[in-house]
Amino acid sequence: MAEMVLDRLRELQLADLALRRLEQTKAVHDRSVLARAEGITRHKEHIESLRAKQKQIRMSADRKELEVKQKRADIEKLRHQQTQVKDNRQFATLQNEIKFAELAISKFEDEILADMGDIEGVEGEIKKAQAELQRHEKDLEAARKDIEAKKGEVDREIAQSRVKRDLMAKALPPRVVDLFTRIADRLAGEALAAVIRDEDDEDAGYVCGGCHMSVTQNTYVRLASRTEDLCVCPNCTRILYLEES
Ligand SMILES: [Zn+2]
Repeated sequence: MAEMVLDRLRELQLADLALRRLEQTKAVHDRSVLARAEGITRHKEHIESLRAKQKQIRMSADRKELEVKQKRADIEKLRHQQTQVKDNRQFATLQNEIKFAELAISKFEDEILADMGDIEGVEGEIKKAQAELQRHEKDLEAARKDIEAKKGEVDREIAQSRVKRDLMAKALPPRVVDLFTRIADRLAGEALAAVIRDEDDEDAGYVCGGCHMSVTQNTYVRLASRTEDLCVCPNCTRILYLEES
């Protein structure tokens, strides 16, 4: 009885592992679409940040333009005052103020020119980023179609494998399937382990092929007698079986 159950469990494990691999393949496809979509979000955010930077430079240039206008008005006023003063000292003081205002204007104008250059530079960056974004979006569209097709194929394979697996499971006692499934879920599908000779120490006897902890003589005898119920490894809890010699 135990022997037949073990044979079927080994088949079930193979079906289970195949199913798990298919699920993983599907997950890899999903992740690759997700990663591309995230890349596009990052590109969009980058473009947004460039636009914000550009806006800031433009606002700062506008403020400087206003300053220039103010200074020009000041100069007009000072020139008018010059026509009204009578002594040379007052005239010279006003002339000095005009000179300072003109210096300030020239400094602002240099800065505005630099700002315009910066705005143009950022504009170039935005254009480049937009072209790249478009390329990525096209890429994503193509990849999505390709991946959807692959996923459809995997889905069909999964459905077929699941039917096979469920048929195998139905041929086994439910409590055995429950035990198997619990262990398989915990150990990535590897619910079974062969009892193997300990390669490091032949006198020591046998070990669990899953975790390499030694298996007692008693367990070995129970497995060899092929009449007992299932034995599990006391360390990793895998269901143990003997390879046919
Ligand atoms: Zn073990």
